[in-house]
Amino acid sequence: MTVTVKTFDRLADAASAISTERGAHFLSGGTLLMRAVNEADPAIKTIVRSTDPAFRHIAVSSARVELGAGATMAAILAERELALLHQVARAVGGPAVREAATVGGNLFAPSPYGDFAAALLALDATVTLAGGYGERELQLEELLGRRDRGATLVSKVTFRRPPGDAFRFAKVTRVHPKGLSVLSIAALLPLASVRITGARIAYGAMGRTPLRAKAAERALEGRSLDAAGIAPALAVAADGTSPSDDAIASAWWRREILPIHLRRLLLGADQV
Ligand SMILES: Cc1cc2nc3c(=O)[nH]c(=O)nc-3n(C[C@H](O)[C@H](O)[C@H](O)COP(=O)(O)OP(=O)(O)OC[C@H]3O[C@@H](n4cnc5c(N)ncnc54)[C@H](O)[C@@H]3O)c2cc1C
Repeated sequence: MTVTVKTFDRLADAASAISTERGAHFLSGGTLLMRAVNEADPAIKTIVRSTDPAFRHIAVSSARVELGAGATMAAILAERELALLHQVARAVGGPAVREAATVGGNLFAPSPYGDFAAALLALDATVTLAGGYGERELQLEELLGRRDRGATLVSKVTFRRPPGDAFRFAKVTRVHPKGLSVLSIAALLPLASVRITGARIAYGAMGRTPLRAKAAERALEGRSLDAAGIAPALAVAADGTSPSDDAIASAWWRREILPIHLRRLLLGADQV
């Protein structure tokens, strides 16, 4: 089987190539795509890549974080200003995988992958899509909800930097330190005085793509982060989820343990 590789200086040209050519796939870090090529996946006829430096660029200010979709987990770990994402980046595979695995690739990685995407969903991230005729922005949630994301090329991801320690993340795995997710949970928990206001909770491995726990978010509104305050959210923790049975865990098990880990995350490990 012959696979053609096309390299473009500009991301916009790479975007044009994947949208016009049947069987063309964008290559980022290649941790998943090259595995498919090595397994001779007949659907992959052309690999499209880009050397555009903007694709890997990371920009952090006190208010905003901008991650080039080609930024690797290792690059994020090397950036002191991105400490809030270090736990998340460290949760993706082992050191060799993190050297290659990118932010953009994680948005398209099938469940139970997608730990980083779950964190970005909780952070209410916006994605920028590259195209031959210019860029456009989309909420990450909308991108994840699309059934067909085939010809999409994400150039960057941006989000507002959350206040203080409002962002939390936990990955549940059976194999430490680098097993795949039984599930992951990311939460943005803004406090007004001692009450939660506008929480965003996202799960990885609890559906086809990372998804929001909207019932739990609603149940947390105006509540305090103590055992009584979070009880209604735990009762509806699994609402709207549709986890898979796979080699890592059964759907039943994922639903069973979800409230236990959500409780730990909401209370903070030291209070459990
Ligand atoms: C051993 C191993 C362990 C792993 N462990 C984890 C883990 O613990 N957690 C986890 O979340 N993932 C894990 N992964 C999966 C994977 O490494 C990550 O999800 C990674 O972030 C994928 O990024 P990539 O750059 O390697 O994607 P690639 O392999 O380059 O691409 C994957 C898919 O995404 C598409 N794509 C890539 N970038 C873009 C873009 N910018 N715009 C549009 N489409 C794009 C590609 O066309 C392809 O379809 C693991 C993989 C391996 C092999």
